Amino acid sequence: MRILVVEDEHKIANSIKKGLEQEAFAVDCAFTGTDGFDLASSEEYDLIILDILLPGINGIEICKKLRSKQIHTPIMILTAKGQLEDKVSGLNSGADDYLTKPFAFEELLARVRALLRRPLSSQGQALQVGDLTLDTLSYEVRREDRKISLSAKEYALLEYLLRHPNQILTKEQIISHVWDYDANILPNTVEVYIGYLRTKIDKPFPDKQPLIQTVRGFGYRIGAKNV
Ligand code: CA
Repeated sequence: MRILVVEDEHKIANSIKKGLEQEAFAVDCAFTGTDGFDLASSEEYDLIILDILLPGINGIEICKKLRSKQIHTPIMILTAKGQLEDKVSGLNSGADDYLTKPFAFEELLARVRALLRRPLSSQGQALQVGDLTLDTLSYEVRREDRKISLSAKEYALLEYLLRHPNQILTKEQIISHVWDYDANILPNTVEVYIGYLRTKIDKPFPDKQPLIQTVRGFGYRIGAKNV
């Protein structure tokens, strides 16, 4: 999952980035409102963390402008302590949640996970395709009750695939949701990582149907049955 952090205090922005990267998220930072709006409207993010007081355009305006452009990426507003009006206008402008500064990283992480989970509320915290499950809270991946150990990037890739079961995902879509802007990933890298995942998820189960399918000329799909 790829997250945009718009925050002019470099220290806060960088510590959020570092913390989220340790949790296998891809993170871009913007340090002005203008850059934040440009990135949010040109790149594909799964979540935006947005400060209110920013040079250029403020967070409330960014939020309104994105929603008026039909960009519905979940937005979490960061407000300074006690500024109740900010929270209210943030939520009124189309934000999904807010967090008061200063905050504990654990709380930010919990809210990030809750926002990303929203469309999946009926399924709870686990993503599943066939006999493969991924628990988004414990990071545990299992197939047929066998525990599978993945690197952070492999996990991020599998999570993205599992959030779109039976859908064809292009390499470009995968790159833009699994890697950050600075990563300069080539389509070949996606092939390499798909290969790593197959080695761990499909190859150890030779008598089962492979879950990851290549759709020639289009991309990849994860699903329990071949279509
Ligand atoms: Ca600020």
